[in-house]
Amino acid sequence: MATIHTPADILQTFANIRMAPAGGGRAVHKPLLILFWLGRLQSNEPRTAAFADVEAAFKQLLTEFGTASAPATRQLPFWHLCNDAGGNIWQLESAGGIAIATQGPAPGVTWFRAEGVRAGFAPAVDALLRADQALCASLARQLLQQHFPETLQVDIATQIGLDLNEPAIVASATLPGRRRDPAFRERVLRAYEYRCCVCGFDLRIGNISAGLEAAHIQWFTADGPDVESNGMAMCSLHHKIFDLGAFTVEPANLSMVFSQNLQLGDATRSNVLSYHGAGIIRPQSAAYAPQKAYLDWHAKEVFKAPGRD
Ligand SMILES: [Zn+2]
Repeated sequence: MATIHTPADILQTFANIRMAPAGGGRAVHKPLLILFWLGRLQSNEPRTAAFADVEAAFKQLLTEFGTASAPATRQLPFWHLCNDAGGNIWQLESAGGIAIATQGPAPGVTWFRAEGVRAGFAPAVDALLRADQALCASLARQLLQQHFPETLQVDIATQIGLDLNEPAIVASATLPGRRRDPAFRERVLRAYEYRCCVCGFDLRIGNISAGLEAAHIQWFTADGPDVESNGMAMCSLHHKIFDLGAFTVEPANLSMVFSQNLQLGDATRSNVLSYHGAGIIRPQSAAYAPQKAYLDWHAKEVFKAPGRD
C-alpha cells in the first residue's frame, strides 16, 4: 500500500475507500464518521478520542442522516475504517495508547466502552489535514458530494460544525462512479408538467420554474439512475424532506406515507400532514411513473420508519 504524503494522496485515498455496505444499501457510516472527525479536527480537538466520549454525538448524526438501522451499529465504522487503505488512515488504540489489531468482525458497542477504546486518523493523515485547512474542507466537500444529495450537504456540515468555506485546493481526486446527466432535471420536470408532485407548486417567473427540482428516488450517490422513473418533480421543501426521509411513496398506489418521527407545530401540521395518504400528482405518461424498485430503495434506505397510520 502506498503511503500518504500529499494533499492529492489524501483526496484520492479517501475517494477510493469502500463505503457501501454489502448488499447494496446506501453508505452512511464511514462517510459520516470521517466528516464527524474532520469537524473535530477543524475545532483543534486532539487526534484521538474515546469512543465513549463521541458515541452520543455520532449516534445523533446517524439518526438524522443515516438509515433507520444505522444508529444501532454506530461502532462499525470505527472498526472497519482501520482496514481501509492498508491501515494507513485510521487507528484504534487501547486506553493506554497501544494500537489495537482489527481482524475479523467488529465487537459490540459494550466492548468499545468497557475497553476505553480510542480512535482517530492515523498520525500522518491527521498531520496533513491539520496543517492544511483548505485540504480539510476539500475532503469534506468531496465526501459530501460523493455520498449525499445536494439537499442535505449543508445541513450535515452545519450539524457537525464543519466549515466548508475554505478555498478549494488545486489537487483533486478521480472519483469512482458515473457522471450526472445534465438533462435529468429538465426531463423530470417536463414529465410532471413543471409542478411539485406533492403539493402542485408551479411558480414560474417568465420561463423559469422557481423552487422546483428533480428529486432522485434512489439517490444518484447510491447508484440511482438518471431516468424519469427514478425521478419526481418536487418543490424545494418537499424535495428536502423527501431526502430526509420525512415521507415516502407507496409503490402499489403511489400514495404518500409520512413518518411517525416528525415534530410539527400547529401551523405546520395541517399543511404537511394533509398530504399523508394522498396520491402524488402523476406524471403525464405512465411510462414516467416511479418504479417500484426505486421506491422500495427509498423506503428501506431513507424513510424514517415507522409510517403513520
Ligand atoms: Zn411541494
